[in-house]
Amino acid sequence: MPASQQQSVTVLGSTGSIGVSTLDVLARHPQRYTVFALTARERIAELAQQCRRFEPRYAVVPEARAAELRDLFSINDLSTEVITGVEGLCRVAAAPEVDAVMAAIVGAAGLRPTLAAVRAGKKVLLANKESLVMAGPLFMEALAESGAELLPIDSEHNAIFQCLPHPCGDLEAAGVEKILLTGSGGPFREHAPEALHEVSPEEACAHPNWSMGRKISVDSATMMNKGLEFIEACYMFHARPEQIEVVVHPQSIVHSMVQYRDGSLLAQMGNPDMRTPIAHALAFPQRIDSGVAALDLIRQGRLDFEAPDPERFPCLRLAREAIDAGGSAPTVLNAANEVAVEAFLDRRLSFTGISRLIERVMKNTPVIELTGLEAVESADREARALARGFLGSV
Ligand code: NAD
Ligand code: MG
Repeated sequence: MPASQQQSVTVLGSTGSIGVSTLDVLARHPQRYTVFALTARERIAELAQQCRRFEPRYAVVPEARAAELRDLFSINDLSTEVITGVEGLCRVAAAPEVDAVMAAIVGAAGLRPTLAAVRAGKKVLLANKESLVMAGPLFMEALAESGAELLPIDSEHNAIFQCLPHPCGDLEAAGVEKILLTGSGGPFREHAPEALHEVSPEEACAHPNWSMGRKISVDSATMMNKGLEFIEACYMFHARPEQIEVVVHPQSIVHSMVQYRDGSLLAQMGNPDMRTPIAHALAFPQRIDSGVAALDLIRQGRLDFEAPDPERFPCLRLAREAIDAGGSAPTVLNAANEVAVEAFLDRRLSFTGISRLIERVMKNTPVIELTGLEAVESADREARALARGFLGSV
């Protein structure tokens, strides 16, 4: 590939589960991709190692960790420049030299840098679903204005994208009847409901099929992950909530499906490894090697599907209520969930307390219209404060 066609990539959250998988795919195609910037909040030694390997122009860390990283760089005589904070993240997301941005910071902290990439018209590879959930209309408007290209990394949305025609502005016009969003049901799909209140963070993070960061692992166990993905799909594909159905599929082989008017049901399948959607999004519309082995269907043997149990997974209902209410409701849902998951991981809240806390915050927060980024961030802050206040009493 000629150097002029090489793509320059920023990886936001490069030390996380998605970040590491992204670098694994990039490393397989040095002639196609160069790394412009890598970023992390912690695991600074690991970030330094990544910088030695990929020699990016910039590394971004919180101000408090910058000296430590500069020291590590000077030992190795590395010329990567260390910059800091949210400004640093936005700068490397929007820099003119950058072609593609992998948005793989976890949680609301990803919003500003991801939006900066969108506003700068980049090819945005979206793993950070929370930024779309908390600021959906604003995010999609910015996308339409800048002409940025949004490519889903979430395996379900990537599967849906692969099963839709391109470009796909309007689901009706494309003959789509329904989107079937699959989810494994997580580690507690068959756990006795009365024993759920005493499950530990370690049990919740032990996902049967995927290896992921701790926050999304807990979200998968409560199925709030599917709830957030439901909202993500509504915004991303301009779908009405009634057009999306959640289907539990314990093997995580079918990553989601699109049902058409003529009776066709298209599915995207593959081994559960995030390098497939990452490689797909990086190279789209071409296909490149991802390092993932081909799916062996004979060995796999069977694929099961069932309806989700609403009693066991109240978070699914809460997400549905949030998208139906619109305005600030998804922002509040997301903020309360982040506080609840952190408290659960710190053993300050029980597993079943997660959905109770979110529901209480939602019931006590009036839904307002969100007029811009400041309004989104203030709704997020207020919901977090309320959730922290309720923590001792759910
Ligand atoms: P992770 O916890 O493994 O990694 C998060 C990364 O973000 C790390 O590099 C961390 O240093 C950085 N980070 C965390 N907080 C930050 C902050 N406040 N400021 C700046 N950087 C910060 O998470 P992950 O599992 O890789 O998930 C990342 C995103 O991708 C999440 O939004 C998740 O929902 C989404 N996602 C993950 C998977 C998966 O398989 N892991 C699948 C689909 C979607
Ligand atoms: Mg997913």
